[in-house]
Amino acid sequence: MKVRNLVLVLGDQLDRRSTALEGFDPAQDAVWMAEVAEEATHVWSHKARIALFLSAMRHHRDWLRQQGYRVLYHALDDPANEGSFASELRRAVRQHQPQKLIVVEPGEWRVRQSLQRTAQQLGIPLEIRPDRHFLISVDEFKQHAAQRKQLRLEFFYREMRRRTGILMEGKQPLGGAWNYDAANRQSFGKQGPGLVPRPIGFTPDPITQEVIRLVESRFPNHPGSLRDFDWAVTPEDAERALNDFIENRLPLFGPYQDAMWTGEPYLYHSRLSSAMNLKLLDPRVVIQKATDALAQGHAPLQSVEGFVRQILGWREYIRGVYWLYMPEYLEHNALNADANLPKFYWTGETDMNCLREVISQTLRYGFAHHIQRLMVTGLYALLLGVQPKQVHQWYLAIYVDAVEWVELPNVYGMSQFADGGLMASKPYVASGKYIQRMSNYCAGCRYKPDKAIGPDACPFTTLYWDFLMRHAATFENHPRLGQQVRNLRRLSELERSAIHQQAARLRWG
Ligand SMILES: Cc1cc2nc3c(=O)[nH]c(=O)nc-3n(C[C@H](O)[C@H](O)[C@H](O)COP(=O)(O)OP(=O)(O)OC[C@H]3O[C@@H](n4cnc5c(N)ncnc54)[C@H](O)[C@@H]3O)c2cc1C
Ligand code: SF4
Repeated sequence: MKVRNLVLVLGDQLDRRSTALEGFDPAQDAVWMAEVAEEATHVWSHKARIALFLSAMRHHRDWLRQQGYRVLYHALDDPANEGSFASELRRAVRQHQPQKLIVVEPGEWRVRQSLQRTAQQLGIPLEIRPDRHFLISVDEFKQHAAQRKQLRLEFFYREMRRRTGILMEGKQPLGGAWNYDAANRQSFGKQGPGLVPRPIGFTPDPITQEVIRLVESRFPNHPGSLRDFDWAVTPEDAERALNDFIENRLPLFGPYQDAMWTGEPYLYHSRLSSAMNLKLLDPRVVIQKATDALAQGHAPLQSVEGFVRQILGWREYIRGVYWLYMPEYLEHNALNADANLPKFYWTGETDMNCLREVISQTLRYGFAHHIQRLMVTGLYALLLGVQPKQVHQWYLAIYVDAVEWVELPNVYGMSQFADGGLMASKPYVASGKYIQRMSNYCAGCRYKPDKAIGPDACPFTTLYWDFLMRHAATFENHPRLGQQVRNLRRLSELERSAIHQQAARLRWG
């Protein structure tokens, strides 16, 4: 059966108001969606990440059909499925001989290349339509970058506030300050977080149950568990998750956004990243509901601003950085990191309590919140000097919200400083004492966060001093890290040499 336009809908483009659907004629056109094994295996994906994509895609397929769209759907368990995006597209084109392919800008560089190459090989025009999900386009971000000597989140974020009028009073930031970071770095203290409202979860429906069975049988050796799978897989679920966050957790999001606690994977975080990344949820709606909560006196400015900055600021900034620098970005390794990722990142089997907690939680849920990713798993890899590509592959595989445009700059720019400062002003380095201050992990650990040498020295602390010694020449005049480097003066030659040897044992086993 021939079609005029074949509208390609990718797994992270489940936007019901997608520009790809504009001008669709059910009598002549068809939507094409494909589940391909390649997407689950090009990094060793967590089972929950695979299940989330497949379930959300199948729900979207059914919604499209209910709306009258003709959908050509290539299921993973279809015996004819050849397992790669390019081969499935070729198969569809052979069968349906479309005159044109239409797609919204793909989120990932690799996918965009593959699509363009395949269309060219097939000799069919490919129309790439703008992605309206984001608040700033890739070209507008490039213009922003062209006007600056250096990219920094803070300048970008202020520009976005001015452009959109969000949290503004005329030309001034609402409340008089652009951010409330200083008030937003609280820990829970010894008494702990108390009863944090449990986020709403979604019991798997028959479609999700079927997908879970498929993932278990098709990818049995992949990391992670599906036992607790309760992610939003439709726009309706996503909206309920958003309302639940605004109602129950947004008011304390600000003060506790950097805090961590044993057995508490979510605390006051929103758990909305995967729904936004699959485009089940529009970031404008998320921001609007948060600012409405401020207007209604339900949540304070320090929380609403802190939350809005993550979405209007970080999320858009990160995407801009990705498209500005890809594909060269992937080749950076500014700190010449050459160690391998420790095997325990895939199992959680380590006697470092913080890492055991965060990795076990990640394997169980496919989720860790920002500070766990940045200041536990990310920090350890940075201090150890793990090759950035290995760190990137782990993060891309292991989180339900992992898509490359957001994962890669977070790993290379923010967490590993592999891009040498293109995106962030300094590497986030700290000793075990930071983790002690922001969590209760150290209380249950056999190591001592204030010790750098000896059998009970905290590996983070040993590696922290070793990192500063190894990179002293690079950072001693750095405006924000210089002081930490100058603190090396406190160490005697003997201590430096002992730290160096202990760090080498951690690095090379
Ligand atoms: C090393 C590392 C890897 C990361 N990988 C990913 C990833 O693959 N996918 C992903 O969506 N986020 C990633 N992040 C960013 C952030 O950790 C997650 O977005 C957040 O933890 C998701 O949980 P949440 O929805 O509860 O977020 P909240 O803390 O409630 O924040 C609200 C929203 O803000 C956005 N946001 C917050 N921080 C960032 C950020 N640094 N960059 C971009 N958006 C942000 C997210 O959309 C998030 O849902 C990574 C961060 C680090 C340090
Ligand atoms: S002592 Fe060190 S290894 Fe142990 S939990 Fe604290 S920071 Fe982690």
